[in-house]
Amino acid sequence: MNIEKQVAETIKKYKLAKKSDKIVVALSGGKDSVSVIYIMKKLGYDVQGLLIDLKLGRWSEVHNEKMIKFCEANDIPLTIVDLKKEFGQGICFIKAVLKKQKNLTGCTVCGIIKRWILNKWAKKLGADKLVTGHNLDDEAQNVLMNFLKGNVLLGVNSSPATGGKEVEGFAQRIKPLFFTPEDEIRRYAKSKNFDILYDKCPCAFGTYRVETREWMAGISNKEKLAIVENFQKLIPGLRKENVTELRKCRKCGEPGRGELCNFCKIMGSL
Ligand code: AMP
Ligand code: ZN
Repeated sequence: MNIEKQVAETIKKYKLAKKSDKIVVALSGGKDSVSVIYIMKKLGYDVQGLLIDLKLGRWSEVHNEKMIKFCEANDIPLTIVDLKKEFGQGICFIKAVLKKQKNLTGCTVCGIIKRWILNKWAKKLGADKLVTGHNLDDEAQNVLMNFLKGNVLLGVNSSPATGGKEVEGFAQRIKPLFFTPEDEIRRYAKSKNFDILYDKCPCAFGTYRVETREWMAGISNKEKLAIVENFQKLIPGLRKENVTELRKCRKCGEPGRGELCNFCKIMGSL
């Protein structure tokens, strides 16, 4: 299916956004977030970009330059958040300290930090919705990773629209590419001649996610869709017993599912 049409259908079916919403798109500079902001703009949504400069040397510099140009060319407002200004350190340093102090590794750490900054800034920008470029492959990997960890309940909050409406001032996170396969997004981005980088994050090597991605290489898009759709059908049953609603973190006030949000849990001693 044409992915513009699929995005429009996903937004409609799951009531992800209204034309009157102020929509902030977490723009990494990769094909997924660039395609989703481009498509939503084309569909008539009020979009703006939010990019975290992770301070990963030249890799980040090139992404920033390309996103500034892309947003200018497409008449999209862009905010760039400098990680060093936020925390005094780049992502690699933070990850190295957390590895040493708490033996925390992999993309999970980065994900927690990014999510915290994105929520905080989406709120600052007055967003009604915060869009991420997560695609079908990411979601299928999540289902399998949780299964292999022996804990499918970790996926209980995964859906095209995550919680958050109930927390005051919190922009609900939405994923319009939830059912769109990665290879179709890549084809779309190439067909539009987006001037972007297609390589993966230089920090993501040897992680559980990377291993799962490689392991899934032989699985067709149809099978990935079946994995994700079947898991979506299980969620209402799982949530009945295991739901933990979002609430404000005691320390930072950002949303989390315990007394402390995941960010404050991992960053406590940094
Ligand atoms: P990743 O975890 O790198 O696969 O990214 C998943 C989604 O998170 C992307 O599609 C973006 O929407 C968002 N994202 C990742 N990195 C950044 C970043 N540096 N700045 C803003 N958004 C990001
Ligand atoms: Zn917190």
